Amino acid sequence: MPIYEYHCKKCDQDFEYLLFGSEKPNCPSCKGKKVSKLMSPCGFISKGSGGETVSSSAGASSCSGCAASSCAGCSH
Ligand SMILES: [Zn+2]
Repeated sequence: MPIYEYHCKKCDQDFEYLLFGSEKPNCPSCKGKKVSKLMSPCGFISKGSGGETVSSSAGASSCSGCAASSCAGCSH
């Protein structure tokens, strides 16, 4: 399940959003729609810089900040 990171231009806050389909999230703080999508490291980098799997040694499935089971890229 892809979690995307968004940045609200109005209140200048980053938030994560679990995206279904192509809906666009509102900012949880100000309910604003002026959000821009950031590339969350979770779920993207885990497939590897250089084609290798970087998952297993770096605490697999211990990421509480994203849904990726092999998140080694985010800071959570
Ligand atoms: Zn906002």
